[in-house]
Amino acid sequence: MKKIFNFSPGPATLPYEVLKQAQDELINWNNLNFSVMEISHRSNDFINLLQNIKQDLRELINIPSQYDILFCQGGARTQFAAIPMNLLFYNETADYANIGHWSLQAIKEAKKYCVPNIINPVKKKNGIFYIKKMEDWILNKNSKYIHYCPNETIEGIAINQEPTLENKIIIADLSSSILAKEIDIKNYGLIYASTQKNLGTSGLTLIIIRKDLIFNNRKKRQEIPSVLDYQIISKYNSMFNTPPTFSLYLSGLILKWLKKIGGIKYISQINKQKSTLLYSAIDNSNFYINKIEPCNRSITNITFYLKDKKKEKIFLQKAQENGLFYLKGHKVVGGIRASIYNAMPIEGVKILIDFMNDFEKNYV
Ligand SMILES: *Cc1c(COP(=O)(O)O)cnc(C)c1O
Repeated sequence: MKKIFNFSPGPATLPYEVLKQAQDELINWNNLNFSVMEISHRSNDFINLLQNIKQDLRELINIPSQYDILFCQGGARTQFAAIPMNLLFYNETADYANIGHWSLQAIKEAKKYCVPNIINPVKKKNGIFYIKKMEDWILNKNSKYIHYCPNETIEGIAINQEPTLENKIIIADLSSSILAKEIDIKNYGLIYASTQKNLGTSGLTLIIIRKDLIFNNRKKRQEIPSVLDYQIISKYNSMFNTPPTFSLYLSGLILKWLKKIGGIKYISQINKQKSTLLYSAIDNSNFYINKIEPCNRSITNITFYLKDKKKEKIFLQKAQENGLFYLKGHKVVGGIRASIYNAMPIEGVKILIDFMNDFEKNYV
């Protein structure tokens, strides 16, 4: 059988070893003769699992002790509401950078809780999109934080440098870039990521937050639902209500896998290689085109178009016949998108490039 590669943007491909281990442990986890799904989240086995996840995260991305690690349900979109609810009192405001689809969804939700100061840093020059430098963004001096999405999953546009704004609490949606490259947590007040792209399966959001943003003397809105209240989530060790235990278990396996293969330092090099190979293949052809300034190109979501749009349908069909799945771009931008998170081996990218070259020869 032909080898299959899954370029889905999320839920996304998972490492084979992780799936295999989950399969093996499905009916007997931790020598309990049960699956992880069938035990209480209050049991020692499960509490240990959660503790291990936090410890592995601290090691992998160097999370300092003044930061808390929380898990919440409802995906990243729930945080679009939970963040302003937790961090803004009535009449307070925040800066929101509109970089792409997910930034915009966060803005729409934030508008229910504040009047955000919206920054539009994406510009277009000669048909190429780029993002204005963060230092040149015009912020509201009264804003309590700035929210942005450094990797826009749908457009494949990204801010690849660490944030540089001083004296502002920086909040970043890292749903499609968490664990893909090294970051310095100390640059952020809060980062969050839904787990179904690079950290397991759906059902869960990771939140890494500076503790002084949870526990302080600020006045707090009365209407925050308890399950979204960072103080309550923290006090209850992310188990105020029953967490999605299988999702947590799977994220735990992903973290162990990542540590085993060499951590973020190693995987970020592989990710750099994968994306460089693919962008070079696009740039070196007269058949495919990417419309983003090289420094603002995503390393995890590579978007491109066929110069002859009419050939996209047959491209996708032939790709699938060749074992290359879910390459269709999101409907808001069209074109092609290859999501190449940590679990996509370099081999998959090379096979995609071979396919693209063959397709170009046959259909030019
Ligand atoms: C996928 C994604 C989301 C939405 O995540 P849900 O878990 O569906 O809420 C938000 N932001 C970014 C950057 C994403 O990639």
